[in-house]
Amino acid sequence: MVEIKNLNMDELKEFVKELGFEPYRAKQIAQWLYKKRVKSFDEMTNLSKRARELLSRKARIDVLKTVKVEESSDGTRKYLFELSDGNRIESVFIPEKDWNTLCVSTQVGCPAGCKFCLTAKDGFTRNLTAAEIVDQYIHVQRDVGEERRISNVVFMGMGEPLLNFDNVKKAVEIMTHRDMLDLSTRKVTVSTVGVVPGIDRMAKEMNKVKLAVSLHATTDEQREKIVPLNRKWPIGEIMRALRRYPADNNRRIMIEYVMLKGVNDSLEDARRLVKLIKGIPVKVNLIPFNSYPGAPFQPTPREDIEKFQKVLWDHNIAAFIRDSRGQDISAACGMLRTKEKKSA
Ligand code: SAH
Repeated sequence: MVEIKNLNMDELKEFVKELGFEPYRAKQIAQWLYKKRVKSFDEMTNLSKRARELLSRKARIDVLKTVKVEESSDGTRKYLFELSDGNRIESVFIPEKDWNTLCVSTQVGCPAGCKFCLTAKDGFTRNLTAAEIVDQYIHVQRDVGEERRISNVVFMGMGEPLLNFDNVKKAVEIMTHRDMLDLSTRKVTVSTVGVVPGIDRMAKEMNKVKLAVSLHATTDEQREKIVPLNRKWPIGEIMRALRRYPADNNRRIMIEYVMLKGVNDSLEDARRLVKLIKGIPVKVNLIPFNSYPGAPFQPTPREDIEKFQKVLWDHNIAAFIRDSRGQDISAACGMLRTKEKKSA
């Protein structure tokens, strides 16, 4: 059985050819899948009945099942999906005034093990396929309705995207292809904990979409305590990778920095951060730590985050404080966790 949403446009063309269809059928099928978002081949009414039957025997459309949807008081919606092997993942829909963002997961669990992140606690189970990533978009778009089009996608849900490079790359191709989901490449952001070989690959193979890097600290000693992967790819190596990355002022790299009270939030940290990023086209996103029961860290008070931000501003660095959305339904940054087991 072919998972048809695992195929990018070239692969879909190839598949259509193998079935003995005319080449133009690939585009028609893509339109049914990604523009009309049908659930079955039977609905593809401009294909012959025979063609539809053949497709139904050879390929499958939906790979996710929606288990639960929760809506926050601020309109954020959190989705719990079940994969065909029973594993579960979450996605978050974040409505804004002029656009809508979807935060997608790329792995079941995560191998990075960041100390402040709730997903990390469940360990790592497996990579998601491209179809499982793309299907998060399709299911949420169907649910919120066409008048609330998802215009932005951030790869900031569960998992480390650059440790699942091939599938993430394919999902990005499907999301940004004109005949498929047709998102603007500038509205797709891939966020990494700092997987240096992945950043270098992104520079070559995926540099049209935006890169975000979870730096979170300004010395290796500090960073090792909260981001264990720092031992493998320390700050110096990450910064070198960012310096060779094809970025400019119109395509800036986003530096993410979660503010942990007394750990990485001093004004000295802010000044060290200024030095680290000097000369790299970046914008800095300061993320208020979203706490949870038993969390080993405290959030930095708002006024201290603002003081930190001011140091960056004083050095002409674009720095923003990220809004915490969907906190009441545990949908905010780093709060995704699907420990709850399937009821037997
Ligand atoms: N693995 C990728 C993407 C997933 S997490 C990465 O590390 O970038 C998306 C962002 O949320 C990361 O910057 C992550 O460090 C941050 N995050 C994780 N847990 C958090 C928490 N409890 N509060 C605030 N931000 C958190």
